[in-house]
Amino acid sequence: MDQTLLRLRSEHLLLKERLQKVQSHLAKTNSKLEQLSTWFRATEMNEPLPDEAYAELKVPKQETWQAKRLLRLKLDGAIERVESEKNKLEIEIVNLRQNLDALTVCPNCHGTGTITRLMEYERLEGGQIVPKFEYVFCELCSGKGKLSL
Ligand SMILES: [Zn+2]
Repeated sequence: MDQTLLRLRSEHLLLKERLQKVQSHLAKTNSKLEQLSTWFRATEMNEPLPDEAYAELKVPKQETWQAKRLLRLKLDGAIERVESEKNKLEIEIVNLRQNLDALTVCPNCHGTGTITRLMEYERLEGGQIVPKFEYVFCELCSGKGKLSL
């Protein structure tokens, strides 16, 4: 098989694996955010949080106003962190998709399906010299301009 195609295929595979990892990370981040938002709403309604919330946020489970305030601060911080993580992951996904797409453009013919080759120079009757081109069907992409990787 063509070396270029092999190289592109392995690069494509790596990017695809990375994309899957980032997507599953994003799914986890989204459910984390969902959970934090639920806890946040509960504190606004003055409802008790599950023990797991206190453990995760490292806040003592106490009924004092100081403890409640600390809980809110920790929740705010955690939500902010998770949201910024989510944004980063979403940007990475967009970039990975663009890179994956760019990889399928045939590097041989630059997506045109045809390769233009300079054959020779021709002298016209007026003495003017013009280049003569040959247009060849691109074999790497079978003239499609796109590679199926
Ligand atoms: Zn091509």
